[in-house]
Amino acid sequence: MAEELNPFKISQEQLDSAAELMGLDKAAHQILREPKRMLTMNIPVKMHDGAVKVFRSFRVHYNDARGPTKGGIRFHPKETEDTVKALAAWMTWKCSLANIPYGGGKGGVVCDTKSMNAGELESLSRAYIRALGDFIGPRIDIPAPDVYTNPQEMAWMMDEYSKIVGHNEFGVITGKPLEVGGSEGRFDSTAMGGMYVLREAAKAKKINLRKATIAIQGFGNAGNFAFDLSKKLFGSKILAISDSSGGVYSEKGLDYQKLKESKAKTGSVEYYKDKGAEKITNDELLEMDVDILIPSAIENQITASNADKINAKIVLELANGPVTPAADEVLFQRGILDLPDFLVNSGGVIVSYFEWVQNIQSFYWTEADVYKRLDAMMTKSFSDVMGMQRSYKEKGKKISPRTAAYIVAVGRVAAAMKIRGWY
Ligand code: GLU
Repeated sequence: MAEELNPFKISQEQLDSAAELMGLDKAAHQILREPKRMLTMNIPVKMHDGAVKVFRSFRVHYNDARGPTKGGIRFHPKETEDTVKALAAWMTWKCSLANIPYGGGKGGVVCDTKSMNAGELESLSRAYIRALGDFIGPRIDIPAPDVYTNPQEMAWMMDEYSKIVGHNEFGVITGKPLEVGGSEGRFDSTAMGGMYVLREAAKAKKINLRKATIAIQGFGNAGNFAFDLSKKLFGSKILAISDSSGGVYSEKGLDYQKLKESKAKTGSVEYYKDKGAEKITNDELLEMDVDILIPSAIENQITASNADKINAKIVLELANGPVTPAADEVLFQRGILDLPDFLVNSGGVIVSYFEWVQNIQSFYWTEADVYKRLDAMMTKSFSDVMGMQRSYKEKGKKISPRTAAYIVAVGRVAAAMKIRGWY
């Protein structure tokens, strides 16, 4: 039978196996298998040549038992209802595991940002917010950046929402530029959070990060900063990196400035120029012999077809959904420590939460405050997951870190629903 690659079905499968292990109440399980509500929109935008283009778009509120729904907006040519539903489910578990007072949501627009100019992106961002109407709001659902969206789009969206409600409403969206209510430390927070988890995992696995080698898939909001930070914080050597076009490898390690230059000049990291550097494919990158592999791009990268070829000791899932359940099982059996996405990449939404708190209070924190609080929360999440894994081991059941993380996260959402009387 072909492997299941529909992200929403995958998210349901993951929930089902955790539900069985933890003996989740049937009603709670039923509620959590589907989103609470979703909006599908077809949004007309006037393009720069005068033609009108209609963009298919989505926003999902998966579950709001623990607080308003929270999650990014992706601008992706392959977005579907099911990718957005899965990502919204994963946001629910992410916010719960991080123990921040949010439910999970997600948005998506089917579009190719690479073929759009700034004016068209602004028109689309504003039109998306107008189409959403009161489906978002600082107490309802709070979007943020994700794949192919950035602080500029968040600023336009916040501005459009503020115009609709007739006053500045910075807290409607996070990941904004510092000039309009953004938080210190938000720009690299996803990667920074991942680094705190990596530090804890390396301690547990007795890996010296100063001597470690790393391969990173993706050079966007997450991968770019993971490169910079793993070098700065730990002095690790990054042997390979890639983006959607292709990758580059160098035995002596890659240089961040040169990578950024290559990306700015040619649109891809694959044209990186240095002595000894050679082009590699995304598949080759994933199978490289390194200590740490950091998938930081999109879903379904490590699957049943390449899981047995992964050579890293630790897989740090900075992307959402990069490892399928079948691959998860293979990595676990092979003794590779695969740290799940909604633990590893929760730094983004945690600092989004800090940003929202600062917006509501109109009182802004220093970068040091942000990182200190982020470190404490990531370290706690990691130890919650390891603690759950240990407690099952003591009962004679070996479970993966992802299953342990599910049990913690789903347990908290179920408890909130129960106490609210939803089941
Ligand atoms: N897009 C990020 C994620 O998937 C951040 C979400 C947020 O800050 O709301 O976690």
